[in-house]
Amino acid sequence: MDSLSLIAQARQHHTLTEEQLLQLLKDPHIDQALFNAADAVREAYVGNAVHLRALIEFTNICRNNCSYCGLQAQNATVKRYRMTEEQIYPLAQKAALWGYKTVVLQGGEDPFFTAERLVPLLRRIKALDLAITLSLGERPFEDYKAFKQAGADRYLLRIETTDRPLYEKYNPGMSFDNRLRCLDDLKRLGYEVGTGILVGLPGQTEDSLAKDLLFFKRFQPDMIGLGPFIPCPNTPLAHAPRPLLRPALKVMALTRLLLPDINIPATTAMEALQQDGRLQALQSGANVVMPNVTEGEERQNYALYPGKAAAAQAPQNLRLTLEQKLHAIGRHIGTGYGGHKQKDISVKF
Ligand code: SAH
Repeated sequence: MDSLSLIAQARQHHTLTEEQLLQLLKDPHIDQALFNAADAVREAYVGNAVHLRALIEFTNICRNNCSYCGLQAQNATVKRYRMTEEQIYPLAQKAALWGYKTVVLQGGEDPFFTAERLVPLLRRIKALDLAITLSLGERPFEDYKAFKQAGADRYLLRIETTDRPLYEKYNPGMSFDNRLRCLDDLKRLGYEVGTGILVGLPGQTEDSLAKDLLFFKRFQPDMIGLGPFIPCPNTPLAHAPRPLLRPALKVMALTRLLLPDINIPATTAMEALQQDGRLQALQSGANVVMPNVTEGEERQNYALYPGKAAAAQAPQNLRLTLEQKLHAIGRHIGTGYGGHKQKDISVKF
């Protein structure tokens, strides 16, 4: 079948085979048609609201050595920080004041933050009437359970790549099976689960991206976050070729065709790579933006990749600027918690 017919079919039925995905990933002439189809599916299933999540990067200390990540343990050039509860909580308070309905607490895999230390903070944040998303990496089942009981609603854990040899190469000392175990645990515990990948890792083929997309379809996540891999200085992949935005946008648009009603963020890495990359993403299937509300020196030091901190604006002005940009493309800021299928998030505990 020709590529345009494949897109038309996927727009109706939300299925594509591995061969068909491969054909669309490889075809350079249908990108705009693909983006338009994903945009139409987004509008039909999740509407014109863009849900905002306030991102708080509360620790850049990490025990892992992911080759792509600027915060990897062996990067001695990073100025490490770990916020205290008395730093984190006021950021969540401000987010609530500015009208955000969700906070995302993200960090490296920092052993200091045991469940015992995090649970009281989660309870306090929950009392602010916020949905809580966590993104703290791999943890035992018991920790995920304790976070959930303390009020966490959602969890983000990208599989990064489903290409096992590639995963093992770029995540030394980590286990692909354990990452899958974590994703299953999170699902079983009733979290809204977000996963996703990096697009443009050296050695990653279209074949492997097609398999990633089929994994998304099988796993049935509530959210998929993906973005271009951006080479980061002082990491093993520092000198990898700088990728383009387009392949990541294509994978994102295909994700929307396959999983029409999930949440898909226009990621910061897209904006870091190209000015207005996030707006392009919002017109190619995305319906979520995660503004960074981390302040001060910490914000500069959470450098997963270059250009990240600069891509975002001062937290106070951010919402207004974004609102104007969204209006210009016929969209508006969502007023609710913005969960998958409006799943009822209980904010009382
Ligand atoms: N420690 C948490 C959070 C990781 S940071 C965890 O393991 O889930 C969030 C995401 O940033 C990662 O999942 C990864 O996909 C992305 N990331 C890391 N380095 C990057 C880079 N150089 N370019 C683009 N994205 C990157």
